[in-house]
Formats: sequence, structure tokens, C-alpha cells
Amino acid sequence: MSEPLRFLNTLSRRTEPFEPIEPGHVRLYTCGPTVYDFAHIGNLRTFLFEDVLRRTLAASGHRVTQVMNLTDIDDKTIRGAAAEGISLRAYTDRYIEAFFADLDTLRVERAEHYPRATEFIPQMVELVERLSARGHTYVQDGSTYFRISTFPAYGRLSGIDPDQVRPGARVDSDEYEKEDVRDFVLWKAAKPGEPAWDSALGPGRPGWHLECSAMAMTLLGESLDIHTGGVDNIFPHHENEIAQSEAATGKPFVRTWLHAEHLIVEGQKMAKSLGNFFTLRDLLERGHDPVAIRYLLVSVPYRQKLNFTFDGLHAAAAGIERIGNTLRRLAYTPAATADGALAAADVDVAIAEFDAALADDLNTARSLGAVHSLLTRINQALDGAGIDAAARARVDAAFARVAAVLDIVPVRAGRSAEDEAIDALVAERTAARKGKDFARSDAIRAELAARGIILDDTPHGTVWHRKS
Ligand code: AMP
Ligand code: ZN
Repeated sequence: MSEPLRFLNTLSRRTEPFEPIEPGHVRLYTCGPTVYDFAHIGNLRTFLFEDVLRRTLAASGHRVTQVMNLTDIDDKTIRGAAAEGISLRAYTDRYIEAFFADLDTLRVERAEHYPRATEFIPQMVELVERLSARGHTYVQDGSTYFRISTFPAYGRLSGIDPDQVRPGARVDSDEYEKEDVRDFVLWKAAKPGEPAWDSALGPGRPGWHLECSAMAMTLLGESLDIHTGGVDNIFPHHENEIAQSEAATGKPFVRTWLHAEHLIVEGQKMAKSLGNFFTLRDLLERGHDPVAIRYLLVSVPYRQKLNFTFDGLHAAAAGIERIGNTLRRLAYTPAATADGALAAADVDVAIAEFDAALADDLNTARSLGAVHSLLTRINQALDGAGIDAAARARVDAAFARVAAVLDIVPVRAGRSAEDEAIDALVAERTAARKGKDFARSDAIRAELAARGIILDDTPHGTVWHRKS
């Protein structure tokens, strides 16, 4: 990818050219799941945005070191484990395993590090000690709080006005609203029935915000290139991460902040109470194809809300079907011997448009537009004079790029077992026709038609595609 990357930075509110601090190497921190339940498709939308980001950075020649934390201790995980009467570890292990299974189903590339918060407690304690040494904390009833009036830049990311804060007002919960801006807890005093660690701060456990600052700086250094999350993370989570990290180090914590907008369902916020709450499992049980789910969730640029509908999911399935049908048709058609009807240079224009769209703050909708225009041109060429070997090689390069970044090409490597079974039936039909066994050949055609497979008898033999 030759196009320079540009991102809309939440912190500066501007679209800026992207350059990592260390040339060629991107340090990326992506807030991970709170492992208290199965991820819903809204969470997965954010993780897919981060997957496309990581793959785009790699395609443009960067080495990427990505960290995604697993929040295995916070108010929600503790409540869930207590409700079932099992250990926090047993409870969170179940959802961590489910989370990785979901990532694999959706073809999400693995990050380099998945730290569990409970494995970084000493680093969290040390960060609080650094903050205390610099006068940013106070202790009340055994808990340590960050005094936000000691950090003048507080509010820069989210745009809140720190002057609204009543001095001394504090908050202990991990999540709270903008209207509620207060000193926040770094280390919570041990409570009966809650897991606790003995530490120089007294027995207790970390607050959620502290976890991400400590893991990010331990694994990636004190200044990172990119930090991401959903828009709900901007306040208070990311605002507090900046305060804790910069107050401790005196260095800028993150250069570029990227936030994905929310997924909504049929125009409404996704909520368990509305009955419109879906996990990946729910959609798979209803028979939906994971690649179609991936296609739908990446198809809307991350800065826009994504309205999840079943019509949209069917349209996504039709989109990948079209890619599969065209690539299959191409595979079955011999290269044109003379100049074909598709110029290699035109395919390169399509690749350049695909890259330019992604370089433009990950405009995935525009990049998919480039893919579909290319499919139209390929089909037109196959209807006409065909595609010569030079253009064919460029088409292969184009779809290798689409597979590397968006990964929505239905068959990844080789072909599926179902494709092989269809091939076998088509070959059997060809043999039957040769032997003038038309009853058998008609029966095979009918059987395939019932499965949505359409046969075309061409001068080069029989090719098949799925009915779209
Ligand atoms: P959580 O497991 O609640 O910590 O969330 C994991 C990630 O999903 C965070 O980056 C959230 O910002 C993001 N997220 C939560 N709800 C939604 C939603 N409806 N749409 C998109 N992303 C979301
Ligand atoms: Zn985080």
C-alpha cells in the first residue's frame, strides 16, 4: 500500500497523517472485553474495526505490536462470579475462551499480547505509588483516589469541563456518566466477599481505568502510537487513562486516539431489555454465515453508527456470494489467448482505489465499492472477450489484497468441501451426458438446482454458481 495513512484523531478532532514514533513500528493498544458474559455483536464490531486497522497498518508496511487487555477483574466480573458462587478465575476463564472462539469465527487476527488484568497487579500498584509520589492522589477509607484538579489537561479528550468538579467529590464505580465527573478510584479498599491483593496501598484491588494504563505502559512503553476503543470509552475510561499515565510519566501517553461508533439494532440501542441483544452465537444458531457477519460489521466506516438489521445481513451474504461466484467463474474460465476485455492497468486502478479508501481513515464502505466495481468489470469481461493472463494475475493480486485487509473473500485458501462435492456431481453429470444417460444428467441438474446451484454449459465445459 503506497498511500499514506490518515486518521481522524479524537484528541485533536482533526484528520492527521499517521507516522509512528519509531519508524516502521506501530504500538497499538486496543481496550479489550470485560469477560463477564459473551461478547455481543456491538463489542465485536469494535474488535473488527481494530482488526481492519491492524491489517491496514500491516499492509502499508508497518510492523504492529498490538495489546488487547482482558478485563478479568472489575465490578461486573466480581458480581457475576459471586452470583454463581465460583472463583473469579473459573468465571472469567469461561468467557475468555468464548471470546477467542468468537475471534476465530470472525477471522480476527491475533494481537501480540492479551494480558489479563489480574496478572499485572504489581505494575498497577507501582503506578499508583508513582502518582502518589508526585502528589496526584489521596486516601479515603482505605481506597486511593486520583485528584483530578492536580492534572490541568483533564477533560481534553472528552471535552468535559473539569471546573464543574466539586473538590473532594469522588466516585468508586468503574463506569459513570459525564455529568458525574469526579475524582476517581485507583485502588479500592478490600471489601468482604471481594477478591483482594495485599499491597503497599493496603489490601484491595485495582480500579478498571488503572488496569489499562499499567498494562499499556508495561507492554508498549510510556508513549504509544494508537489507542482505540468504542465511543463509550472516551469518558471516563480513556480520559482517566490519560490522567493516570501522563501525571505519572510527564510524557504524552498516546498520539492518536480512534473510537468506533456504536452498533444499534433496527434503529434502537441494543439492550437486553428490548430483546434485540445478539451474541455471535445467536446469529450462528439462526444459520447465518460468519463471513457475512464479518462483512456486515466491517462494511460501515467505524466513525459512523452501524444499524444492524437482518436485511443488512442478507445483503452482506449476497455481497460475499457475488465475490465467490465471480472468483469461481474466473477459475473455470481459461485465460483469453488474445488481448482480453479487461486491461491489467484497470485492475491496478481498482487496487489503488481500494487502498486509498482505507488510507482515508479506514473508509471501508468506499473500499467495498472498489471491490464491487471490479467484480462488475470482471463479469463483463467474462461475458465478452475474456480475461488474458496479464490481467488475470492482477485480479489475483487484487483479491489477495482484499483477503489480507478485509478478509471477506468467502473461500480463503483452496475450496470448501461443499465446493468439491458440487464439482464431483458436475463431473458425473458431464460423464452421464457423454454416455447419453440424460435421465441421470437431468436428475443431477435438478438436485443441484434444489440446492441453489445453477449450471451453465459453456464451450469450455460446465461451470456453476450459486443463485444470488
Ligand atoms: P466491554 O466488554 O463492555 O468492556 O466492551 C468491549 C468493547 O466494546 C469496548 O471497546 C466498548 O467500547 C465496545 N462496545 C460496547 N458496546 C458497543 C456497541 N453497542 N457497539 C460498538 N462497540 C461497543
Ligand atoms: Zn481500557
